[in-house]
Amino acid sequence: MPLDKTGLKFYFIAMLYIKRGNLFQLLKFLSGGYRVFVPSRKGDNIAFTAFGESEEDYVIGEFRSFEPLKAFYFLGREKVAVDFSPENPRNDNPPCIVGVKSCDLKGLKILDFVFMDDEYGDPTYMKARTAGLIISADCTKAAETCFCTAMGVNPWPEQEYDINLSEADKGFVVEIGSDKGQKVIDDHTALFQEATEDQIHSREHNRTSVKQHIEKNVRKKNIPPVKRLQRIVRKNFESDIWSEEAATCVECGACNVICPTCHCFLLYDQKSDGSLARYRIWDSCMIKDFARVAGGENPRNRLWMRLRNRFEKKFDYFPSVADEIACTGCGRCIAACPGKIDIRQVLAKLSAPR
Ligand code: SF4
Ligand code: SF4
Repeated sequence: MPLDKTGLKFYFIAMLYIKRGNLFQLLKFLSGGYRVFVPSRKGDNIAFTAFGESEEDYVIGEFRSFEPLKAFYFLGREKVAVDFSPENPRNDNPPCIVGVKSCDLKGLKILDFVFMDDEYGDPTYMKARTAGLIISADCTKAAETCFCTAMGVNPWPEQEYDINLSEADKGFVVEIGSDKGQKVIDDHTALFQEATEDQIHSREHNRTSVKQHIEKNVRKKNIPPVKRLQRIVRKNFESDIWSEEAATCVECGACNVICPTCHCFLLYDQKSDGSLARYRIWDSCMIKDFARVAGGENPRNRLWMRLRNRFEKKFDYFPSVADEIACTGCGRCIAACPGKIDIRQVLAKLSAPR
């Protein structure tokens, strides 16, 4: 495989196409070695289901799922030690996630920064990331809450995938993003054909029109340009906007739990069957006790301080340490917040002159 000067690999092959029925055939084959999950329609939402249920309900295109992708790699609750000895990662098949959207792939970059490390990495996360397969897909629609382009993300995958699918002509134009993806295609060549010019043109047309739709949302909400976000959040450290915006927060933590980049966790011990099990569960920086220390002091004892901390972490801390904004513009926190706190509105207010 040829390499460019940066070491990135390029896959010099003709653009491929797979019919919808052949894709499900491929997923049946992959089910032999992977736990395959496909986005499906669930009422008004799109949620991942185990492959094997009704194929009519599968939604490969459209927009991001209800739940964040992190749920497959960084489990909501996991046993990590028994009687103070580390528990090995579960021995089940790695995940193959189908229809992953571009915003969630950006979320994985943040989680990789936190959990992938030879010395201090998370074994379950690393195992799922290295052995798993990602078959991503272009968005073919945008939700009202989508603002990925404002965070520098296009509504089609450009990195971090093994195979990408772009809906066209009752099937999908196929792009390969890794050696793993190339092998899957080499092992099942009969299911693929060369993409036609019309199919490729249809893909480009869809990409342009979805991007325009999202950019219109972004303009309507006055979201400041991505390059200014770090400065805007820093400059407003003492702003009243934090307390104004936190006024309707009920401290439920939904914004953290639903976010594809939030990764804080809590460890607790539980006695069961005569042994002591240690569990790791997702935590939320919006909850009062999150930052409480021994002795009872709490550096963020006011709700507005916790809201400010959430924004600081996403728009100031992560760009400083990882050169990445820890927001993907997926809009899940907007949809989930019972207090109707809208991250787009907070950013617009912070950037407006006062
Ligand atoms: S989802 Fe809304 S109400 Fe719940 S903690 Fe987050 S900001 Fe507060
Ligand atoms: S902060 Fe909100 S919009 Fe940004 S990635 Fe998290 S859930 Fe999505």
